Amino acid sequence: MMTEGRIHDRLSRFRRVMAREQLDTFLVAVPENRFYLSGFQAEDLQLTESSGALLITDSSQLLLTDFRYKEEAEEQASQFRVHVYSEGLAQPLRDLFQTLRTERLGVEGHFLTWKRFQEVEKALKDACPSASVLAFDGLVEELRIIKEPEEIEWIRRSLELTEQALLSVWEKLAIGRKERDIAWSIESFIRCSGGDSVSFPPIVASGPHASLPHAVPSDREIQAGEPVILDLGSRLNRYCSDMTRTWIAGTPGKQLKEIYHIVREAQLAAQDAIRAGEDSVRVDAAARDLIAEAGYGEYFGHGLGHGVGLAVHEKPGLRRTEGTVLQENMVVTVEPGIYLPGAGGVRLENMVRVTSNGCEVLNRQDLFYPY
Ligand code: ZN
Ligand code: ZN
Repeated sequence: MMTEGRIHDRLSRFRRVMAREQLDTFLVAVPENRFYLSGFQAEDLQLTESSGALLITDSSQLLLTDFRYKEEAEEQASQFRVHVYSEGLAQPLRDLFQTLRTERLGVEGHFLTWKRFQEVEKALKDACPSASVLAFDGLVEELRIIKEPEEIEWIRRSLELTEQALLSVWEKLAIGRKERDIAWSIESFIRCSGGDSVSFPPIVASGPHASLPHAVPSDREIQAGEPVILDLGSRLNRYCSDMTRTWIAGTPGKQLKEIYHIVREAQLAAQDAIRAGEDSVRVDAAARDLIAEAGYGEYFGHGLGHGVGLAVHEKPGLRRTEGTVLQENMVVTVEPGIYLPGAGGVRLENMVRVTSNGCEVLNRQDLFYPY
């Protein structure tokens, strides 16, 4: 349960963002944003089935939901007036826009389906023909990018659970074990140890599968000398974690040892580059340049990292383009990798908190090889 003070503070910060964009009303539909601003915990079962939305103006806040969630909504979002609809989210909007005298409405363009966008726009035009709807990509996410102390604490605990899950399988990794069984052991450990869920289905990728950054665990058995990429995360009290280690079955060959060493060096170089005030593109480059100079540039095809919080992938992205100036108490992953098609790969992923003069690595378990 979130304290009233925290909700109040987040709402005032969001209203400042709305004022900056000259919006009188904002419709919040992204489940993480809805929770962040109101405390309403319901999840959406799928993109086309919303459990509700917030309608925020400079002086009022409403939570629109249906009968199934009425009781939870009133209890969890105690600072919101709950409005129950029976014919879908779009149904009450026309009247509400009229009452609120909405002229400039902001919506989450990166999330609303085209159909829902059209319904919202129609309701707004019916209520007030001169009104306009503006689509944004991440206004609430702008606030979520900096973590509050309590959020950092939950992220830490979530990562601790993830590390325990990894340790529980790490000791039992062996030649002949199936990827799918290992993935299930991770998942069941997280669920049985108090996690809400996994933050994404675990990746267990052995041998040639390890060259696929997002490989799906299969019935393949681990073979001698191979790398096994284990990428996993838990969700605890809604906060996500995400980490990767690469296990090696027995004695690695020369090239595997070499790429492992380079990936680890790249990770350390990026961690060294992180500090408040630094541009995320330069942090990405710290790892990318090192990998390129070692001759493996074309085999590191994804971004260096991403923010983690209520969502497992959120702002800021650490990649080649779209730089963000890092700020204190952003939480990001640092996950360089080298993927050699058909042969295998190595990825190592830590989570760090940006500080004023560097970063704090949130991982407690190393599980790195000294190559
Ligand atoms: Zn990961
Ligand atoms: Zn990640």
